[in-house]
Amino acid sequence: MNYYSLNHQSPRVSFAEAAVKGQAPDKGLYFPELIPALSKSFLKEIRKYSKDELGFTVMKPYVGDSIPDAELQRIVSETVNFDFPLVKINDSIASLELFHGPTLAFKDVGARFMSRCLGYFNRNNNQHTTVLVATSGDTGGAVANGFLGVEGVNVVILYPSGKVSPIQELQLTTCGQNITALEVNGTFDDCQAMVKQAFTDADLNAKLTLTSANSINVARWLPQQLYYFFAYQQWQQADAPVISVPSGNFGNICAGIIAHISGLPVKHFIAACNSNKVVPDFFTTGAYQPQPSVATISNAMDVGNPSNFIRILEIFNNELPSLKNVVSSVSISDETTKATLQKVYEQSGYILDPHGAVGYYALEEYLKQKKNGDKGFILETAHPVKFPDVVEEIIGKKIPVPASAQHLLGLKKESVVLDASFNQLKDWLMR
Ligand SMILES: *Cc1c(COP(=O)(O)O)cnc(C)c1O
Repeated sequence: MNYYSLNHQSPRVSFAEAAVKGQAPDKGLYFPELIPALSKSFLKEIRKYSKDELGFTVMKPYVGDSIPDAELQRIVSETVNFDFPLVKINDSIASLELFHGPTLAFKDVGARFMSRCLGYFNRNNNQHTTVLVATSGDTGGAVANGFLGVEGVNVVILYPSGKVSPIQELQLTTCGQNITALEVNGTFDDCQAMVKQAFTDADLNAKLTLTSANSINVARWLPQQLYYFFAYQQWQQADAPVISVPSGNFGNICAGIIAHISGLPVKHFIAACNSNKVVPDFFTTGAYQPQPSVATISNAMDVGNPSNFIRILEIFNNELPSLKNVVSSVSISDETTKATLQKVYEQSGYILDPHGAVGYYALEEYLKQKKNGDKGFILETAHPVKFPDVVEEIIGKKIPVPASAQHLLGLKKESVVLDASFNQLKDWLMR
């Protein structure tokens, strides 16, 4: 399988090259030449497959010859070595819990797959690769954990001081080994700007091999398909599900749409957004107008210009009517998000996180309007304990820290404090 740039000004490349480069030289996103069709027998027998077998079968065509089968099998099984349970909330809505990985967020799957691929591609390389990443919370932890101990790769994470939750900060700052957390006296936008400037700085690029680990990288984006398949293995209804995806950069939902195009039965997708509503507005007006991001309680979705949306347009040949047949998109306010979190907790005892609550409300409204007996599930993208300020106030009690994160509580944070200044970042990287 080869990948082409969505700007069409760069040569086609293998999976390996697309994963190592991240972005095409013409600054376009890479897109697979073809979306493989899964066999009828695979889909019919899907419940018999283990997670490892399923992961290998789905990812193999995308990876092609870039990684030998035995290595890919190892990478996939290390990527998905935790649970993806589909938990019933009520008669028509279930929650696909994607927070049972090491950093309690769905980004673990993409980060684990990508880190192991880069580890493999770097195996004979004497030059270390430096992964530079800015985070508003979840990405940093998943990337740090995914790359921890990967040979030949150093990871440098920039995060805004005081603006990530306590658990998120511990996930970023307690890894040690090849992971360094830079605590920036500034905002997420400052961190992002410093990282962007580093990628274009001649001195830095002469000294270091820099790469990024965000969701535009095909090795982080494509493995997200897997949890839609894991959900389908657990889906008990005769009719295909309506799937509601809390969306920010639209990488997750775009991977789900790819899975559907390859044959996975899905009735409809809902891209559930917070007040950052560039895409919902596009669905109503047909005009795509990026906006500055606004801060919300579902902050991992505070994105004003979703980087992966262009991939969704590519799938549908830029035709809004065909897109609308498969996907809807809505914007949900913080007030409605909080009210939903509270209502669901009171009615069923289920504790949503703010991102899942956005997805839940969007799905419930959609099913109400359809009135045709359809059922569906939300992607619960993070554990509620990652957002204690919001969630504990609404449900009126403390959320216990899950066993998989307990060990963090006794650890000591280690960070390098910097001002929001590119020169300070550069001096530190050049030291
Ligand atoms: C990153 C993230 C999202 C948004 O996912 P996209 O793929 O960027 O649309 C939603 N919820 C949580 C908790 C996240 O960390």
